[in-house]
Amino acid sequence: MSCISNFIYNKKYLKKNFKNYLRINISLYKYFFIENPEIIKKKIKSLCHKLKIFGRIYISYEGINIQANILKKYFDIIKKKISNLHQDLKNIHINVGIDNSRISFNTLSVKIKKRIIFDGLDSFKLNKNFKNKYLNSQEVNNLLYNKEAIFIDMRNNYEHKIGHFKNAILMNTSIFREQLKKIFKYISKYKKKKIVLYCTGGIRCEKTSLWMQKNGYKNVYQIRGGIIGYINDCIKKNHSIHFLGKNFVFDLRLYETITEHILSYCNQCYRKSDYYVNCINNRCNILFIQCLFCSKIYRSFCSKKCYIEFHCK
Ligand SMILES: [Zn+2]
Ligand SMILES: [Zn+2]
Repeated sequence: MSCISNFIYNKKYLKKNFKNYLRINISLYKYFFIENPEIIKKKIKSLCHKLKIFGRIYISYEGINIQANILKKYFDIIKKKISNLHQDLKNIHINVGIDNSRISFNTLSVKIKKRIIFDGLDSFKLNKNFKNKYLNSQEVNNLLYNKEAIFIDMRNNYEHKIGHFKNAILMNTSIFREQLKKIFKYISKYKKKKIVLYCTGGIRCEKTSLWMQKNGYKNVYQIRGGIIGYINDCIKKNHSIHFLGKNFVFDLRLYETITEHILSYCNQCYRKSDYYVNCINNRCNILFIQCLFCSKIYRSFCSKKCYIEFHCK
């Protein structure tokens, strides 16, 4: 392996190297106590430079959260290097993106954060009295048609809008910590049922399921690897896929297409559409759904007001 310690991050490099599916999108997370996040940060940064990893990485006293675009040929070596960073990272599960034809990140950001995902559960400490219970794709498919089970979408409303499991409960919030505040109000009547939590890659369900157990919910399950894990497991084992539409992702791609179902509407003309766009007017930058017709009329602006504001700067 060539070792380029002063690798310079630039988009041109990516464009050239992205052809022929040489690069793939990955995500992984783990909750565990990190005594000195600075040391882990330094090691991860050096690893990223050596192996030309692009992405967004959060390190905290409570664990790590990595979303990255990597060279496919380095997958095994990256997995090994991450496993070797800490004893709690041994055999870590890595989600490989479903859509690797588009790039997730074209820069690198490695940051130390208070939380690897902002949940607002500051007083809740992870302890060994509660255990995460994971489901594989076959178990998920069985429970989807079981009246004794209920699915809860742990993502935000704008994520759910373009793709979800049918009949999943949505808490209609736009931030995760709001959901955690509201969750018991939404699900108290299902306390005796099997509760299945899901999110994009699993991280949001990881702490939520333990927190729910602490609050008296005994039958709480989560999908291993979230939606991405479920889809990959279905593909691997040739099971039918019951997630409909697109999987929203928090990177440059904004979504991964899972099935051709279109579940949402254009915000400008109300035709069926599920393409998210960030308004190109920096002062607005709102995330909205825009169909192909409207993209020709409005370009990537959410409104005429933003178009005018942008051009009159
Ligand atoms: Zn439209
Ligand atoms: Zn706008």
